[in-house]
Amino acid sequence: MGKNKKGHGIEWLNGWLDEDGQVRTPETFNPVWGCSHKSEGCRNCYAEAMALRLRRMGNQPNYEAVITDGRWNGEVVADYAMLEKIRRWKKPRVAFVCSMSDLFHEKVPDAFILAALWAMADNPEHIFILLTKREKRMAEMWRQFTEEVNGCPVPKNIIQGVTVENESQLGRLDHLIRLPVKKLVSVEPMLGPLDLSPWMDQIDWVILGCESGPRARLCEPSWVRPVRDNCVATGTPFFLKQMMIWNKLVKMPILTQNKNSRACKRWAQLPKMGAV
Ligand code: SF4
Repeated sequence: MGKNKKGHGIEWLNGWLDEDGQVRTPETFNPVWGCSHKSEGCRNCYAEAMALRLRRMGNQPNYEAVITDGRWNGEVVADYAMLEKIRRWKKPRVAFVCSMSDLFHEKVPDAFILAALWAMADNPEHIFILLTKREKRMAEMWRQFTEEVNGCPVPKNIIQGVTVENESQLGRLDHLIRLPVKKLVSVEPMLGPLDLSPWMDQIDWVILGCESGPRARLCEPSWVRPVRDNCVATGTPFFLKQMMIWNKLVKMPILTQNKNSRACKRWAQLPKMGAV
């Protein structure tokens, strides 16, 4: 997704401030090409469709290697040279890392994941946001990274997230909450009702959105409200990216303040960075 006049196409990358109160440059940063489906949330993978489009346009040779018959083929290309680019960023940025893949994919080498985490930690003026559906590998790689860091403070500029699209993926949170960095839960696409309350005290940010596109699956407003209420109750920032309302996709819709209120607001809360 790119930037437009109204900001970045990924809404939750907009509005981040640096220490001087200036708006950070939003960015998607993709040092890994390719992926494979992991759970139900992957069924209509946006990145796969986009990769196929880019491959057809012929301007992204790396996608040749990772797409076969219009689908991810399970191969990945990990580009060390891309990691070097971070050091050349001038203004403070907020970057969604691997928006088109999963850094913790089985085929991405351990050494590359560690190099990526080091590149992020070594550039604390930027904020990096990671999302995965491979929670066990994530936990293992963070274990290895903290062993390498060995006594140094853990990076405060990285937000690690997991996707929890339905109840059967709630177990991902047990791995997430043990990490020493800021923690994000992405309920996107929301495919069923969820009770996040057992984990809420240890979560720093929740993003939620329904599925979009021609094959979008159902997402009921009655599933959304309890997650919002959990966030309100625990003071956890909540970002409502999109909902299907009367069969129409509404970006950043307004929703009541809480279950007892009729007052409405747009939910676009971001976590405070700094102490973990
Ligand atoms: S993990 Fe993400 S990029 Fe990979 S197949 Fe699933 S939705 Fe697509």
